[in-house]
Amino acid sequence: MSDHENLTRNTDDVVIVGGGLAGLFCALKLAPRPVTVISAAPLGQGASTAWAQGGIAAAVAEGDSAEAHAADTIAAGAGLVDQKIALGLAREAGAGIDDLLRYGVPFDRDLEGKLAVSREAAHSARRIVHVRGDMAGKAIMSALIEAVRRTPSIRRIEGFAAETLLTEDGAVTGLQLRKVGDAAAEPVTIASRAVVLATGGIGHLYAVTTNPAEAGGLGLAIAARAGAMIADPEFVQFHPTAIMVGRDPAPLATEALRGEGATLINDKGERFMIARHPLAELAPRDIVARGVFAEIEAGRGAFLDAREALGAHFAEKFPTVHASCMEGGIDPAIQLIPIAPAAHYHMGGIAVDARGRTSLQGLWAGGEVSSTGAHGANRLASNSLLEAVVFAARIAEDIAGQTIAASVRSPAISINPQNGAMPASTEKRLRAMMTSHVGVIRDADRLAEAVRSFAAIEREAHNIALRNMATTALLVAASAWARRESRGAHYRSDYPSEKPALARRTMTTLAAAREIAALLAEPAPARSAQPMIA
Ligand SMILES: Cc1cc2nc3c(=O)[nH]c(=O)nc-3n(C[C@H](O)[C@H](O)[C@H](O)COP(=O)(O)OP(=O)(O)OC[C@H]3O[C@@H](n4cnc5c(N)ncnc54)[C@H](O)[C@@H]3O)c2cc1C
Repeated sequence: MSDHENLTRNTDDVVIVGGGLAGLFCALKLAPRPVTVISAAPLGQGASTAWAQGGIAAAVAEGDSAEAHAADTIAAGAGLVDQKIALGLAREAGAGIDDLLRYGVPFDRDLEGKLAVSREAAHSARRIVHVRGDMAGKAIMSALIEAVRRTPSIRRIEGFAAETLLTEDGAVTGLQLRKVGDAAAEPVTIASRAVVLATGGIGHLYAVTTNPAEAGGLGLAIAARAGAMIADPEFVQFHPTAIMVGRDPAPLATEALRGEGATLINDKGERFMIARHPLAELAPRDIVARGVFAEIEAGRGAFLDAREALGAHFAEKFPTVHASCMEGGIDPAIQLIPIAPAAHYHMGGIAVDARGRTSLQGLWAGGEVSSTGAHGANRLASNSLLEAVVFAARIAEDIAGQTIAASVRSPAISINPQNGAMPASTEKRLRAMMTSHVGVIRDADRLAEAVRSFAAIEREAHNIALRNMATTALLVAASAWARRESRGAHYRSDYPSEKPALARRTMTTLAAAREIAALLAEPAPARSAQPMIA
């Protein structure tokens, strides 16, 4: 729908920004309550959910338990997982899967008709529920989109991006949107006292990423700019095995391939992960990502070798990966797959409580844009779709139990109506700097340079989308600079070990990140001052 009047009508609706798993699931759970879903891309496109290959972690197999799942989640999170949240997530997994089955997701079953489960890295049991091998994301999205289309209470606005959150006295009053791809278009405002941000991750802030272009951290930015508390922004997970065939975003070789026995080798044919970790290829993602990165840095290259483990069965078992390889001119049944680490998942995000509430009244956040504390410093594979489902349901329940204050009777007034063109070269520079300075291996000097650069773009950008990208990039870089240790996915070559005294989550704001930028803009001696982020 693109009719201006309809867009700006006064509304009592709950407004959900994002048409991925978190957004659509939340909208369905709220039915028959009127809900407006805004998505930057047409439904089914521009959402990481559609690209998920592994599946959803759920302790549904005999002999497995929510406690074991939570324990694995806590171990992967390197001391920062909120244990209560992790256990709640694991316990509610079964109910989430049941809901998805009801919405029509055709999860694979074994010969006895029970849900089939596979194993992924750092899980102590086979517990990944999947669809036709690696088609989980596509199947989930098409089932949910169908269900949404059948639900008359859900109004859809596709092709519009939220660029500013409107607030009054710390409470949300609405959103400012703009048509995607038309920087000169007039902004439109939509009034709402209950906004759910479900805008996904930040991978596209990096030059090498597995995330769609819509995952540029804009949702996180608009919340931060409105003053919301942001948690753990420095923790970015790099997928160790993005397929390097010159595509942006880079296609992904799912972890499940290694679960099935595919190995990682360098150009000498050596399995380099054996020397790095007892679990070798199935070690936690950050360790594998650094191993792959080190081989590439050393000039030996890194490859995924599925020739023996899968061979002729590759196409049938992993059709998506197979197609990506073939498009790049590689037959993975008989050839090595060139790989590199790519920005993949953001553990950090808008800080939320167990109900998905943010620090701003009337604002909830769910899915990857939020930070619930479930992933700590490193996400356990396939826990993100689970988190999106569980928290989307909790948000819907929380909103359903409330009377949202009477609607704003006139559309909220837009701010920043002017928008300049997107300067492609600055965007490219920002993305390149995120990969080189705020990537797999970080240090104080490069982080400080990145902070200064992003703060300048944030201050000076005339294009709102670019400014919002810089806002999120600044939060990530400033918190990475402030965390003087290595933990989980955050690795500092100048502070290579974990410091027990720093085993606490980062809770920060844009104002604090800007203070760090101001500090780093000063002459060198001031830079050793204590970080201002808790
Ligand atoms: C290649 C790949 C494979 C993955 N595999 C798995 C897996 O097997 N298992 C697992 O658990 N996780 C996996 N993940 C992670 C998981 O897919 C995501 O964390 C999860 O899908 C996020 O869901 P979401 O609903 O929060 O966001 P998304 O699905 O990314 O949806 C975000 C939505 O917000 C919209 N949007 C963004 N910004 C705006 C804006 N400003 N205004 C309006 N709309 C906006 C987008 O267009 C989109 O509709 C994978 C991720 C990738 C990239």
